[in-house]
Amino acid sequence: MIKRLELQTTARIQLIDITAQVKGMLRNEQMPSGIVLVYVPHTTCGITINENADPSVKEDITTLLGKLVPADENYRHAEGNSDAHIKASLLGSSVTLILESGSLILGTWQGIYLAEFDGPRKRSVLIKIIPG
Ligand code: ZN
Repeated sequence: MIKRLELQTTARIQLIDITAQVKGMLRNEQMPSGIVLVYVPHTTCGITINENADPSVKEDITTLLGKLVPADENYRHAEGNSDAHIKASLLGSSVTLILESGSLILGTWQGIYLAEFDGPRKRSVLIKIIPG
């Protein structure tokens, strides 16, 4: 079974901590151990795991990605959002986590982020548990 988390992003570029929502969706799971795939079915946003203690880390990530992949480069894609597609590819569209005895294993400072690069938009995050 696939679980679906629906979100509304509020800015063009934004890292949103979805750790609590993902944990909440796994709370009543029948199969308490396995692999959890967290996946975004979109071409202009990504998923990443990084520090969620100091908010300047996510600011540094979006600032540096903006320098690496500027919005106003001479891209060929006519939709005008090539930087968003490239940034999404750099981060990737999924992360894989370990679920053990009903708990999602994350490091002390780790959080799961939806990385919006072409918002504001409605976004879906799909969560699939592979028992084991
Ligand atoms: Zn596009």
